[in-house]
Amino acid sequence: MTVPTIQLNDGHQIPQLGFGVFKVDPGEAERIVSDALEAGYRHIDTAAIYGNEEGVGRAIASSGIPREELFITTKLWNGDQGTESAHRAIDTSLAKLGLDYVDLYLIHWPTPERDLYVESWRALEAIRDAGKSRSIGVSNFLVPHLTRLLAETDTVPAVNQIELHPTFQQRELRTWGAEHGTAIEAWGPLGQGKYDLFGMGPIQAAAEAHGVSPAQVVIRWHLQSGIIVFPKSNSAERIRSNFDVFGFELSADEMAAIDALDAGNRVGSHPDDVN
Ligand code: NDP
Repeated sequence: MTVPTIQLNDGHQIPQLGFGVFKVDPGEAERIVSDALEAGYRHIDTAAIYGNEEGVGRAIASSGIPREELFITTKLWNGDQGTESAHRAIDTSLAKLGLDYVDLYLIHWPTPERDLYVESWRALEAIRDAGKSRSIGVSNFLVPHLTRLLAETDTVPAVNQIELHPTFQQRELRTWGAEHGTAIEAWGPLGQGKYDLFGMGPIQAAAEAHGVSPAQVVIRWHLQSGIIVFPKSNSAERIRSNFDVFGFELSADEMAAIDALDAGNRVGSHPDDVN
């Protein structure tokens, strides 16, 4: 199974489908990430705050998969923003992951009240220049935060990782990304299980029409929308089925029907409220 890649604005390629490990218990991370690697995923999305980088690293080490075939993302936590603390944080993450570099390092939240995200972004530029992360990006950044980075620094973020699912489609940030060359990554792509996404009419109808699960329809909708997506699951069976999304294609009408579910339904925190 070859997962399509997206070319980032710095020339690096990112596999469009990956595996997320938010709320994967540190004690189970090695087994669960091993299941994902076994199923064929080569892109793993973790973060310092998830507490499971060591387990992710053990799964990578024991997989025997060549490093260059993997795409590993981790994130700078809010309390580590600032120049020196960001440099310390990436070294800690790399040590826990057992890696010389990550493929993508993100500022996890803008935390606007701290007002350290521009300084932190300059630290990420230096981290990239030192070879500790191939690409650098942001997460949960709104247009005013992105505009400030553009005005005050030299690097356009390679990605913006944001809450995005069929009832919360983030059109403003997707348009900004398309205009500036910032790829969009969806977090909570399945709505984090917080509402009855899988029971919604257009998703059920497409699942029946293609003989697949509602989750597979939603993942396929992200992929066909050009979004980078990494659903999380603790179950080996769901890990496999979430990856098995390349044997069918949603029609233009099916895509349009899911597009029409957009309802401003944020299920996570508003970025201005996380400080
Ligand atoms: P998801 O939208 O991926 O939803 C995960 C939930 O869906 C889990 O409860 C899981 O249950 C369930 N699920 C997974 N697959 C299926 C399936 N096939 N059928 C039914 N239920 C299913 O939420 P996440 O928050 O995990 O988002 C994905 C990733 O995004 C995270 O793991 C993390 O890497 C990243 N993220 C980043 C954030 C940020 O601020 N940058 C914030 C939140 C997430 P089960 O495990 O039992 O299968």
